[in-house]
Amino acid sequence: MSHRILLLGAPGAGKGTQSKKLAEEYDLEHVTTGDALRANKDMETEYGTPRSFMEAGELVPDPVVNEIVEAALAEADGFVLDGYPRNLDQAEYLSEITDLDAVIYLDVDEDVLVDRLTGRRVCDECGANYHVDFQPPEEPGVCDECGGDLIQREDDQEDTARERLEVYRENTEPVIEHFRDEGVLVEVDGEGTPNEVFDEITDVVES
Ligand code: AMP
Repeated sequence: MSHRILLLGAPGAGKGTQSKKLAEEYDLEHVTTGDALRANKDMETEYGTPRSFMEAGELVPDPVVNEIVEAALAEADGFVLDGYPRNLDQAEYLSEITDLDAVIYLDVDEDVLVDRLTGRRVCDECGANYHVDFQPPEEPGVCDECGGDLIQREDDQEDTARERLEVYRENTEPVIEHFRDEGVLVEVDGEGTPNEVFDEITDVVES
């Protein structure tokens, strides 16, 4: 059976890590607006390029993001959606283009989020995620998976990370409330190890 899963949570809650694992486990498409936008930072749109919004920690305009998601979902049988919807208008749009069978919220405390974001390092080559303290690579600065260079995302520097959390509180928390009000939100404690959190998520998906 194919699943249509939405993972919600703040920046740094672990959506990317868990989505990748879910996509592998259940053979789903990993649809992530953050990665799609990073790969198309300088794409010309009528609003300008995504880059300026992303470097400021702000949301890229809805029409740009909605189009990316619609195209990705149209091609996917089952999927795990990560990083979208980030405001109520996007949530409304999503409800018009698909039905979800699980909406999971990864709950992580605010001060943990800042530490996770500022310590995060990503592989320049394959996108694997690390953390300087919580999940260090065997050799500092080098990806265990592919030997690529580990870099810090520009928007993971402290000022921009804090701005992203502010944007999250203002725009995305109402989305979480919306799904909670609908009675479909399942909350998972996002502060365990990646494997502990994954076990909880798979319990939800299979229930
Ligand atoms: P992420 O990797 O999910 O943290 O996303 C990185 C950045 O991409 C965000 O700070 C936004 O600038 C942009 N972005 C990603 N997803 C969305 C979305 N659904 N709506 C608007 N902007 C987004």
